[in-house]
Amino acid sequence: MNDIPGLSRPLADAGKHVDSWDDAGGQLVVVASSTVSRSTCPQCAGQSRQVHGRYRRRLADRTCFGLPVTISIEIRRFKCCNASCAQRTFSESVGELATRSQRRTNRLTEALRRLGFALGGAAAGRLSAHLGIGVSGDTMLRVLHRTACPTPKEPPVVFGIDDWAITRGHRYGTIIVDLERRQPIDVLGGRESIVVADWLRLHPTIQIVARDRAGAYSEAVQTVDDKVLQVADRWHLIANMRESIERLLLRQHAKLREAARTLSEAIRTEGHPVTANSLACRRSGEVHHAMSASNASWIGRRSHSAHSGIGNSSGRSSM
Ligand SMILES: [Zn+2]
Repeated sequence: MNDIPGLSRPLADAGKHVDSWDDAGGQLVVVASSTVSRSTCPQCAGQSRQVHGRYRRRLADRTCFGLPVTISIEIRRFKCCNASCAQRTFSESVGELATRSQRRTNRLTEALRRLGFALGGAAAGRLSAHLGIGVSGDTMLRVLHRTACPTPKEPPVVFGIDDWAITRGHRYGTIIVDLERRQPIDVLGGRESIVVADWLRLHPTIQIVARDRAGAYSEAVQTVDDKVLQVADRWHLIANMRESIERLLLRQHAKLREAARTLSEAIRTEGHPVTANSLACRRSGEVHHAMSASNASWIGRRSHSAHSGIGNSSGRSSM
């Protein structure tokens, strides 16, 4: 019985069936041939039964039980019976299994695409070898580059904008995301004000922009349309707060460590196990003292920042 779970059905949908298979040599080779007698001319859509010739096409497919899979599929070449058609002969298609001239099945290409988007070219290439697919990082990048960007059905109204490193410390680009549909809609080759302004002029439907605190994006929006509402995005606000807290704790490190040491010694002297309640109740005065000093310092800085603007990590000017 030549039924291979997960493969026989897509082959049947393409008008093929499994003749035989062989798992020698560390890979599964599936031989398939045609089950239908006619095919459709891609030029004039006429049906033909006149077989002009045959050849075999090899398609790499997803792995089966950890083995790489190759489908050796019979392809017939037909004569077009329409005298007025410019196409004299044509090869039958394999339907949804693979597009013409492709060496992989569509579902294998989709698996590679997902790997590439998740991990990037080099890492996805290394993992693919472990999974039995075995393509290089360059191949993975070619698969990603051939992926068409989805065209938005409606013009964007609310979008987020941020920079990203093409070469860290040297070159930066800008990514633009439709926040209502949660989809990236464009990538720009720079993060300068003029680059973003040119893009904004092509998208007059924009009403709200969520951005970081960099001055370039603010300037671009102001230049093109000062009625567009600009808001600081949540990620950068949280990132700024986290960095401020880290700096605060680093500055108060000695006091916090001393308070913790005093507390531990006191509890050890009393001979009781250290619990959250005992820490909170018995020596709360010492901890409170240290934290009060920390909070006072932080609140003072925060109050100052609220008036002057918190500096961001990239060193670019604040809004
Ligand atoms: Zn034709």
